[in-house]
Amino acid sequence: MLSDNNAHIDVEPAVNPADRPGRYQVTTLEKTMTNRREFIVQLSLGTGALAASQAMAAGPMLAENDAQATALGYKADATKVDVKKFPKYAAGQACKNCQLYQGKPTDAAGGCPLFAGKQVAGAGWCSAYAKKA
Ligand code: SF4
Repeated sequence: MLSDNNAHIDVEPAVNPADRPGRYQVTTLEKTMTNRREFIVQLSLGTGALAASQAMAAGPMLAENDAQATALGYKADATKVDVKKFPKYAAGQACKNCQLYQGKPTDAAGGCPLFAGKQVAGAGWCSAYAKKA
């Protein structure tokens, strides 16, 4: 036989009805759903932060007036290459089909080892161009 001291039942603390008008208690199901929502929100925020950090890791776009870019005759638009100064340029040559281009051919921009930490335009060109095999 149980004494009064053993007759103990765990009850979840009720939410103050004044804080949640029309509701008396947060159910376990509500807590689970809230946790899932928080998880999904945190997951989507984390994914966004990851994408942002990857964009930062790719680096800023190379400026045409960068000292090394100027020395190599880099243009973000290959059709603007000074052909008198760089006669080796031929129509159709662009970073996106250069061996050194680190992006995919369809990427608007990508890395190039000649300009570490920067991105070159897929449509760009410089005098170190080497046709991708
Ligand atoms: S080396 Fe190739 S990828 Fe790099 S800037 Fe020159 S043309 Fe573009």
